[in-house]
Amino acid sequence: MKRVIILGDGMADLPVERLGGKTLLQYAHKPMMDQLAKEGRCGRLVTVPEGFPPGSEVANTAILGYDLNKVYEGRGPLEAASIGYEMADDDFAIRCNIITIEDGKIITHNGGNLETDDARVLIEYLNEHLGSDRVRFITGIQYRHLLVIKGGNKHIVCAPPHDHPNEEWRPLLVKPENSENSENSENSRLTPQQTADLINDLILRSQELLAKHPYNLAKAAKGERQANSIWPWSGGYRPSMETLMQQYPEIKSGAVISAVDLIQGIGKYAGLRIIKVPGATGLADTNYEGKALAAIDALRQDDFVFVHVEASDEAGHDGDLDLKLKTIEYLDQRLIAPIYHEVKDWQDDVCIAVLPDHLTPVEQRIHVGQPVPFLIWHRGIEPDDVQEYDEVSCVNGSYGLLRLNEFMNEFMKI
Ligand SMILES: [Zn+2]
Repeated sequence: MKRVIILGDGMADLPVERLGGKTLLQYAHKPMMDQLAKEGRCGRLVTVPEGFPPGSEVANTAILGYDLNKVYEGRGPLEAASIGYEMADDDFAIRCNIITIEDGKIITHNGGNLETDDARVLIEYLNEHLGSDRVRFITGIQYRHLLVIKGGNKHIVCAPPHDHPNEEWRPLLVKPENSENSENSENSRLTPQQTADLINDLILRSQELLAKHPYNLAKAAKGERQANSIWPWSGGYRPSMETLMQQYPEIKSGAVISAVDLIQGIGKYAGLRIIKVPGATGLADTNYEGKALAAIDALRQDDFVFVHVEASDEAGHDGDLDLKLKTIEYLDQRLIAPIYHEVKDWQDDVCIAVLPDHLTPVEQRIHVGQPVPFLIWHRGIEPDDVQEYDEVSCVNGSYGLLRLNEFMNEFMKI
């Protein structure tokens, strides 16, 4: 048995009045998902454990069967993996935005739509002036970069800059966590207070340096937004994750297909081959056909493939109802259908699962950590009574309501 999980990021939704009280999955034309639900078995899954934010990195890690309490280290280490930075045991890696501040306030988390080529110049400049044996900046994508602190302590509280637009930045500086055991358990590292002080000092000095960089002087002259402060958040240590092959010996080799660096990072730590598909954008204009072909190709050599499509999440964040409906229909007709039609007659059985990681409702425009509907199909599966794939129909699915790693355990049992 080979297995493929097809994940529509943020695809689930809440009832929408404009759609007569239906959810987008209920309203969209998606004959392929409905057929698989009808012929297969359905259920719902809790993807976000208590105490965790309903982020994609959390939900996707849980769907792959990992215990977040054991492996979760935040975005920094996942992005380090996707950038190709091999973390040492004493490294602390933290996402480092380059943001825009004006009049003492955070104006945007994205540095005025900073582009990667410009960012690379700024990151090199920061390394020249602030880099040391302890501190290193690494260029990522657009406004999203990485700060690595040797011996940094993860027990600090940071403010995600996208959560604080138009707020004063000074009160949002890094603070030590007030947990008792964090200080003495990690003697070789800086204390949380020392780490917070170090990062806050870097923030202040980055502002002085960036204010006089030619890139920002040119932006200022044109009256455009400057990329004038670093803003680190969501850091952690090298995750101690077993690979999926160690967790599930039935898997001999696997692959991940995603345009998103966080998901690629999870895949890397999970021991999956990262397949980059040309034209995969993370948006509704992504190369669905290319991803389908890559998945089919991967299924020829691997026995586990995780295909992640970001587009629905972005449409949800934009509050764009029509676009989100389209992303569901594209996923159905341009990705799931070609995979199904290719593999359904293979001699080697292929088991297909379809699910989102969380809700990104078009009217709320933020992630919501409610249970998500899922379907599982393979040739010869005993169907349940569910006739359509959506949040409401799947309540009656024969898998019932599963929690976290129970989905992967069930999927691997088949
Ligand atoms: Zn997501």
